[in-house]
Amino acid sequence: MIPPICSWILANEQQCAQFALRGRRFCRAHDKLARVEQTNRETRALVGQINASDLRTLILRLLDTLDAVVEHRVSPNRAHLIFQVSFQRLEELLDEAPTAAVPRPEDLDLSSLDAMMRDLNRLYPAESFARQPKTPLTPHQ
Ligand SMILES: [Zn+2]
Repeated sequence: MIPPICSWILANEQQCAQFALRGRRFCRAHDKLARVEQTNRETRALVGQINASDLRTLILRLLDTLDAVVEHRVSPNRAHLIFQVSFQRLEELLDEAPTAAVPRPEDLDLSSLDAMMRDLNRLYPAESFARQPKTPLTPHQ
């Protein structure tokens, strides 16, 4: 029985004339090319997912990736890509919502600070905190 022909369509729109690998759609060269293209599609999809992540999803992905690195379930190259893209996204998220990450002064509860100042004023006479009036330096006589 004649093996099937590679189903890769060449740039001139002709079908590749090589025999396909056993159980595969493509010849050796085009099978390799198809795998590279598949990896590139998956990588673009992954980068797109990370760039659309919110903070919670991003942190969960980073923790999952750390586990995967420890358990050798992810290649170093892929882990590196995930960390790199995730940290860029993390910077974006922190830039987008600075007020969510850092409280504004008017949102701070200063009541405990006020209470501490009242205690200090009770313990020490108010005069001790007052600025001492400057006495003009008088030369020794
Ligand atoms: Zn081919």
